[in-house]
Amino acid sequence: MSIAAPPQTQATGRLGEIIALAQSLYEDIAFKAVADWKAKDKTRRAIGFLPVYVPREVIHAAGGLPVGIMGGGDMTEIVRGDSYFQSYICHLPRSVIELLVSGRLDSMDGFLFPSICDVIRNLSGMFKLLKPDRYVHYFDLPQNFRSNLGGTFYVSELKSVAGAVSAMTGTPVTDERLRESIKVYNANSRAMNALLELRIEKPWLVPAAEYYLLLRAGFLLPVDEHTAMLNEYTLLVQQSDRRALDNIRVMVRGAFCEQPPVALLRTLERAGCYLVDDDFVVGSRFIPDPIAETGNPWDALADAFMHHSLPAASVYDEKHEKAKKLVDRVREVRADGVLLMAPSFCDPALLDQPMLQEALEQAGIPFTSFKYSEDTGQFQVIREQAGTFADAIKLWGTV
Ligand code: SF4
Repeated sequence: MSIAAPPQTQATGRLGEIIALAQSLYEDIAFKAVADWKAKDKTRRAIGFLPVYVPREVIHAAGGLPVGIMGGGDMTEIVRGDSYFQSYICHLPRSVIELLVSGRLDSMDGFLFPSICDVIRNLSGMFKLLKPDRYVHYFDLPQNFRSNLGGTFYVSELKSVAGAVSAMTGTPVTDERLRESIKVYNANSRAMNALLELRIEKPWLVPAAEYYLLLRAGFLLPVDEHTAMLNEYTLLVQQSDRRALDNIRVMVRGAFCEQPPVALLRTLERAGCYLVDDDFVVGSRFIPDPIAETGNPWDALADAFMHHSLPAASVYDEKHEKAKKLVDRVREVRADGVLLMAPSFCDPALLDQPMLQEALEQAGIPFTSFKYSEDTGQFQVIREQAGTFADAIKLWGTV
């Protein structure tokens, strides 16, 4: 289902071109952009990765293109994907299998499956069976955050990925190359943070759908092209004449893996909610602070993941700080309330929800919750729920 951007946010000129490019990349479920990138040099290799987070710096340093595989969204008809899974799991693995068996992932030379849940683990096994000629790696993440244990393990995983991608590209990952890649991704992170800050301060300038499309573009474009795109958008949108509406400010949590349809984001804004913070495509900004650009780059990546990443349902919360961090973040971005929106049957998100709800209740922060799937096509009920939530906060400051 397609929902157009509201007239007051429709963009023309160069801004419109940037958004149109991001939209076309989002709709490129056959990954033609990747095939085009590879066609320019026959030594180029692309490595697809599943949500939530992989250190793209390692693939980049090996001369590869990291490509996010975020499911088929509402653009993929599931013909064979359903036959691989029971009915009571989320939608993402069905559409990913559909992309695979329909040949739309043929431009990928390898696949990384970060350890986020059993579904992703099983999916990696299916890929191994269905694509025995491809590199398929279950990218295990540490659950112990001591440098001499989890850190050592994580570095060995990083080096395993580096070795595999280097064998395909012929480019070894030296410390020097990895430090350069960290710098390039730090620049991307700075551009991303500038956009996030602008959205927090003036959310009417950065509609949720545009912001989301820009995030997704970063999972397909070479990193320097994406950084330039973010910087240009952030500059141009501040020169636009978009005006503020009487919307409430909301924060979204639960959407870190299977992604909501873009039309759902537009629906939420039309219902009166500015999205000032969220966990969409969270792997693109999983480590908000700059990663050390000097010293041992492997240790720097391990330290960043273990001690400086955002809280997520897929990462073990060793210090039990997730609920506190949620409340702190609500205050930081001055959100009026929280939308707990999770994919149907997503165990990690739904198991976290009672704990997050309790923290919000204790802090007196209004929230509402609903479920979606990547191909949800009916938004009326969600629109009414979000609209009522927004109206209640405007009228009474609570729900
Ligand atoms: S949506 Fe949830 S259950 Fe499904 S693959 Fe992602 S984390 Fe796992």
